[in-house]
Amino acid sequence: MEVKSLLSYFQTELRPMLKLLRQTVEIESPSHSKLGVDRLARFLAQEFKRRGGKVRLLKHPTAGSALWAEFWGSRIDQKPILLLGHLDTVWETGTLAQMPYRVRGGRAYGPGILDMKSGIVVGLWAIQALRALRISPSGPIHFFLNPDEEVSSIAFRKEILAAARAARAVLVLEPAAAGGALKTARKGVGEFKITVHGRSAHAGVNPAAGVNAIIELMRQMFTIKSFARPQQGLTINVGRIEGGTRSNVVPERATGWIDVRIPRLRDRATVEERIRGRKPYDPGTKVEIEGGINRPPMERKMAAALFRKARALGREMGMELAEASTGGGSDGNFTAALGIPTLDGLGAVGDGAHARHEHILISELPRRAAVLAALLATL
Ligand SMILES: [Zn+2]
Repeated sequence: MEVKSLLSYFQTELRPMLKLLRQTVEIESPSHSKLGVDRLARFLAQEFKRRGGKVRLLKHPTAGSALWAEFWGSRIDQKPILLLGHLDTVWETGTLAQMPYRVRGGRAYGPGILDMKSGIVVGLWAIQALRALRISPSGPIHFFLNPDEEVSSIAFRKEILAAARAARAVLVLEPAAAGGALKTARKGVGEFKITVHGRSAHAGVNPAAGVNAIIELMRQMFTIKSFARPQQGLTINVGRIEGGTRSNVVPERATGWIDVRIPRLRDRATVEERIRGRKPYDPGTKVEIEGGINRPPMERKMAAALFRKARALGREMGMELAEASTGGGSDGNFTAALGIPTLDGLGAVGDGAHARHEHILISELPRRAAVLAALLATL
């Protein structure tokens, strides 16, 4: 296969790619809007069918529908490659009115355009190109669009894991890192809630009768914070605290929430044990710990071979692809932790995910699709 022919194909497809991108941005799909996510899933189902996919909408009682599609399904001698993306965005319904789809200075703006409606378009066009250029991948291609990635991927976690287990490789369509780098490592993510129960008392009349929950919580937080190893990438953020009623009352209760990021799978048990094992400093208090690591890290070794392949294909097309690691999680964290080779950040290049200036670089869109198509054709 002539890899360069892919790039010229996508250059001529830029207009229809942008048209579909605009349509998907204009169907608002916040994670918690079943209506919006369902609408986007139904709309995209037609687009997948138009490109020869065998499509299924997976319904959920409270979350939006997931979209499942199979291409080249008859090639059963080889395990499939899984393309993974998400339908939901962090933007509430109505955002579009203040932040409409618009193109300015080679950039396209809009809610969810980078994270990750453009990634869906890139995936869809990669498949379209292989069909149009009569290039057959060596096995089936499965495409899964998750409806609730931005809120921890609860609704279809089992299905995502099953699809990944069956696959030979997972390609995640999340946006590229700054400058277009592919994502070869992601930290694991955890959240813990620490509640301290003390005893209230009048701060003036009877202070010794009280047990101060806030003081205990502060001591616990300092200790937990000391478990961080920032040099090794293990970070802990005390993100929120709450407690007490007024200054003249010894507080009976205090709660704190912390965010933990771990670089390696083996950090999980240690961190969880240390935090969950906290005992009260003041024997008059009770310390309750909830939560844990909810996304395992995506370790670089699971992406290394796929990245080398992508970089070589990029060079054939005159692109120099870099790699990057990130502290943010994606569904790639789950698939890599299963031991399935996973490469992430194959979606669009831009800036401002989850921010007002969210945008993509238009000229990069055909190039990203070309890299993905080349990967699908040669893996
Ligand atoms: Zn995303």
